[in-house]
Amino acid sequence: MIGAVPKALEVALIDVGGTLWPNSWPFRMTDRAGRHERVAAAMPLLEAAVIDSLVADLVESSRVGDEARAISTETTRTIPAAEILIAASLERQGLDADAAAVNRIRRAMALPVADRMKPLPGAIELLVEIRALGLKSIIASNTYWRDAESYWEDFRLLGMAGHVDAIVTSVDAGHLKPHPAVFEMAMRVAGCPAERCVVIGNREENDVEPALALGMRTILVYPDDPQPASSRAHAVVPDLWECARALKAMLHDG
Ligand SMILES: [Mg+2]
Repeated sequence: MIGAVPKALEVALIDVGGTLWPNSWPFRMTDRAGRHERVAAAMPLLEAAVIDSLVADLVESSRVGDEARAISTETTRTIPAAEILIAASLERQGLDADAAAVNRIRRAMALPVADRMKPLPGAIELLVEIRALGLKSIIASNTYWRDAESYWEDFRLLGMAGHVDAIVTSVDAGHLKPHPAVFEMAMRVAGCPAERCVVIGNREENDVEPALALGMRTILVYPDDPQPASSRAHAVVPDLWECARALKAMLHDG
């Protein structure tokens, strides 16, 4: 054959909550103390009493994710974006809400997760297989406090960072999926058009639908969810080993 045949797929855009990690992890009574410590380290000029009331206010106003027994990784926008919430909270304490302080506090509020849950079975094997198939892995995730930098730290501690090429979160992209911003930013990072991307995720509405609208391939996975009644995805698989097989078949069949 003369001339290179372009590969059908170059990049896998991979969701996290319910895809590589569980949908939720346990709330701990020590979380507030942990956040106090992290916010204090991020804002060394503030007195302990001010940190106390700031963290209490942040936890209270972001209650949807923090006072429940389990912390959901599937963020939905029922409360303002973290930056807006933090800025309002700083102002309520009579503090300056400059962008640098807001970002430092947002990262401090993203508690590390590596000690409280494990990747879903087959997660690392899937990432290894994606690379073996010649594709890049880009994390494309809805988050509340976490940006790419926070996630890199989580992934390093979970032994997954070496298998990931890039990370894009809704905090970095400015919109939660199903808004296309996360996938569009991932395409820019990859330098790759939509038709060379496959989205792997556990939510029809957040992962499959926006990916199909952009012209991407899709694999719906449900390692931590009930079997979906229906899906428009190109493949629907119960676990991450089946996902690797479906991806391989997709590459072979073009
Ligand atoms: Mg998910």
